Amino acid sequence: MLKHSIKKLLVANRGEIAIRICRACNELGIRTVAIFSKEDINSYHRYKADESYLVGRDKKPIEAYLDIEGIIEIAKEHQVDAIHPGYGFLSENAEFARRCAEEGLTFVGPRAEHLETFGDKSAARAAAVAAGIPVIPGSGDAVSSIDEVREFGRTHGYPIIIKAVLGGGGRGMRIVRSEKSLDEAFARARSEAKQTFGQEDVYVEKYLDHPRHIEVQIIADQSGETVHLYERDCSVQRRHQKVVEVAPSRRLGEKLRHEICDAAVKLMESVHYLNAGTVEFLVVPSGQFYFIEVNPRVQVEHTITELVTGVDIVQSQILIAEGYGLHEDPVLIPEQKAIHTNGYAIQCRVTTEDPSNNFMPDTGKIVAYRSGGGFGVRLDAGSAYTGSVITPYYDSLLVKLSTYAQTFKGASAKMLRNLKEFRIRGIKTNIPFLVNVVQHPEFLEGNVSTTFIDTTPELFS
Ligand code: ADP
Repeated sequence: MLKHSIKKLLVANRGEIAIRICRACNELGIRTVAIFSKEDINSYHRYKADESYLVGRDKKPIEAYLDIEGIIEIAKEHQVDAIHPGYGFLSENAEFARRCAEEGLTFVGPRAEHLETFGDKSAARAAAVAAGIPVIPGSGDAVSSIDEVREFGRTHGYPIIIKAVLGGGGRGMRIVRSEKSLDEAFARARSEAKQTFGQEDVYVEKYLDHPRHIEVQIIADQSGETVHLYERDCSVQRRHQKVVEVAPSRRLGEKLRHEICDAAVKLMESVHYLNAGTVEFLVVPSGQFYFIEVNPRVQVEHTITELVTGVDIVQSQILIAEGYGLHEDPVLIPEQKAIHTNGYAIQCRVTTEDPSNNFMPDTGKIVAYRSGGGFGVRLDAGSAYTGSVITPYYDSLLVKLSTYAQTFKGASAKMLRNLKEFRIRGIKTNIPFLVNVVQHPEFLEGNVSTTFIDTTPELFS
């Protein structure tokens, strides 16, 4: 048994991921501290921690969880050793990672400089180029004028995509199909970037037709030793946001699969990456793959990699933050040759988005909540239970439903059964839509590209 230098860990997050992290700590014998905004006074994550404290009393709902000094104050006052930021909120904030270090608190994640590099899409791209990883033809840096974009379109042909340098979460992207619509698209992309990310810088790339989104889970220790936990296919997206994820990918072929996983490791080694992270790629039908970005944190869909590899990624993160190296715990931080995938896992993001109302998030009291379950089923829920109130303040994720079986067919049959077993009354959810997705022949055959949802109208009926 490894000894833990982290005795108490603060989870700087809410909802399902806060609960996920508390559970990981609990099993390791580490005491947990939750923070909550005043709007989250009854939120479930509070009760899954050993202690919980109000943060950002005078702040708006989201800003409460971004209150760096408030969080650090709570940590210091309650003898916390480490902070896990989860995903979203402060998870990719380099200043937060630095402030933690200054205060002697272990930040469970990569180093601040990794957050800086990968938070800036052009810096990330430059790192990939330097490591010899293929990138999508594009401007690389922010463009200085629309003329540069026009020139790019003429050289590389349409469609092209204009992206916010500071973009994320599928937002801040605009596809341009011909030069005719460029003026308007460019102006809009810049103003949206300014509005959403506080900075109007955009860059341009060739828009790839029917790519698949393949991403590789990475874990690296403090010595720089890096392993991959194979890949996830996150091609089922709505407006560039992931809806259903599968591990491992299907119909990729062993050769390409290994090339992509090796490229991911090579990139992370080249920057001496630390802790868990994901390298994302787009793969076009010819088999050519291109780097798109690195997510330097635990991801929503880490669950399916855990199901097929047996590695608890959150516990691995904690051990690595404590300074343990790969191999020191053969189960939680195994060496590459001990990592295999077994069977298939699928995750559906059950949200309060109402498919009959253009996926607007619904709010209100859940008057009845009954989940599925059974062999090969994993549920990661935030505040979803009978009587809970879903507020408009935070993201619309209600519960992550993951299923696992030896075959893809088995995993998808379990998914369909579970989606149908769910009863959530009082608020609308996207379950009817997910039911359509997971029984669609193209999904079942593994022939899905990132445009599947947007080009398959029958999914919406
Ligand atoms: P974000 O950081 O906002 O998640 P990403 O760069 O990871 O943005 O891209 C998200 C999704 O947008 C991809 O999975 C893909 O579906 C689509 N996308 C991004 N860039 C391109 C491109 N050049 N061509 C085609 N699709 C793209």
